[in-house]
Order: sequence, then C-alpha cells, then structure tokens
Amino acid sequence: MTKTALVTGGTRGIGFGVAKTLIANGWSVVATGVSAEEVAACPAIDGMQAEVLDVTDQASVDALLAQIDDLNGLVNCAGILMRGAEYDIDKFQKVVDVNLVGTMRMCLGCHDMLAASGGAIVNTASMLSFFGGPLVPGYSASKGGVAQLTKSLAGKWAPDGVRVNAIAPGWIETEMTEGLRADAAREAPILGRTPMGRWGQPGEVGELAIWLLSDNSSFVTGTVMPVDGGYAAM
Ligand code: NAD
Repeated sequence: MTKTALVTGGTRGIGFGVAKTLIANGWSVVATGVSAEEVAACPAIDGMQAEVLDVTDQASVDALLAQIDDLNGLVNCAGILMRGAEYDIDKFQKVVDVNLVGTMRMCLGCHDMLAASGGAIVNTASMLSFFGGPLVPGYSASKGGVAQLTKSLAGKWAPDGVRVNAIAPGWIETEMTEGLRADAAREAPILGRTPMGRWGQPGEVGELAIWLLSDNSSFVTGTVMPVDGGYAAM
C-alpha cells in the first residue's frame, strides 16, 4: 500500500527535496507552502499534492488535516529566520511561533493518524540546536526548542508506536541561504569550516528523512541527527 507523508514547507527548499525523495521511493506526499504564490510556483510532480498551510494558524492546520484520511509520516520543514532582526521582540516571537510552536501544532494535529498507522515524525532542527547564533537569537532558541521537543515527544509517544526524530541540517543550498551564497565574504568562512567544503543539497536531507520515516529505523526515536558535511563535529 502506498504510504502518505505530510511535508510542511514542502513546496520549496529542503522540504521540496524531502518530498521528491519520498516520491522517488514510492510515497505519496502532501506538500505545503505558506503562500498561494509559492504553491503555484511549485513544479507539478506525480504523487505530490501541493496545498497552502500556515502552521501558526490552528484553523489552517485543521482544514488541511481534515482532507487527509491516512498518514504514515509527518516531516516538519516549515521554518523562517530573520537574520539581524530578531532582537525585535515581535520578530523573535514570530520566529519561535513558526519554527517551534508550529512544529508542536503539527505534531499534535497528526498524532492520532500516526498512532493508527504506526507512523513517524521527522522535525527539522539545525546546527543552531547545538550552539548559539548571535544574529539569530530567536531562530537559535526555536531550534534548540525543536531538539528538546523532539526528545520529549519521542518519550511520550513511544508507547503509542509513534517515533519522533529530528534532522539538523548544516548549510544547505535553498532560498534561506541565498544571501549568504551570493556574498563571497560570508560564504568563505562557512565553506572553510565545513569539512566537506561545499553546500549541502535538499535531497541529501531527504535521504535521512526517508530512512527515519521507514521501518529501517524501527528502533530509532528521540534523536537529533546532523546532515552537515561535518560542520557540527568541528
Ligand atoms: P525556505 O525558506 O526555502 O523554505 C521554508 C519553507 O517554510 C517554505 O516552504 C515556506 O512556505 C514555509 N513556511 C514559512 N512560514 C510558514 C508558516 N507560517 N506556515 C507554514 N509554512 C511556512 O527554507 P529551507 O532552507 O528550505 O528551510 C527548511 C527548514 O530547514 C527550516 O525549518 C529551516 O530552519 C531548516 N534549516 C535550513 C538550513 C539551510 O541551510 N537552508 C539549515 C538548517 C535548518
């Protein structure tokens, strides 16, 4: 039987890479973007249904989940970052609301369907789950929170048969890192510190996501796994 995954933030960037990897491996995917423009711009792929979703809005989440009957996997990729602006308390709160509260909102909304199917959750942490980011205090706090949330839900939901893990991507080539990649002075220290000396690709995150959703990882829960070319190890 075809398995279905919901990938938030799945209409571009890392989420789109995850969605494509899942589809290539026989899954069907509901991929979401925060705006109608982003969803319309997402390339059409067989096996992928693209929908608008705002993870900060319970009504939006409820409306999307009402369309889904069976769910085997949830991948929370929706996320924002406001580099240099997160000392403004409203922006700090917004980043935490999307990245951390939004992840919890999706996990809660999908729990019962995942418990019924013996499914799994993959959250998106970050290298900034492990260390701080002076330009992004809200983002760092939210991603530290995602790591701890992942461990907490793994413990709470293991008896229900729902595994909960997180991926901590390193520097990945997406719109979120476009400004850094366009600026040689900012790119150089990033690549200099990354042992593999290059940007990661969204599909490389997808390869871990599909393993964490599959039965091949049946005894793995509560982990936060880097996909970062060695960055966090240095
Ligand atoms: P991106 O900006 O390309 O994509 C972000 C996605 O989140 C988009 O699909 C967008 O529609 C969605 N989104 C934003 N606000 C939302 C909301 N309120 N409700 C629902 N969806 C919303 O970024 P990306 O690089 O693909 O990042 C994906 C995830 O990976 C994020 O959680 C990000 O923090 C994380 N991450 C990225 C990198 C990197 O180097 N690119 C590194 C570590 C972690």
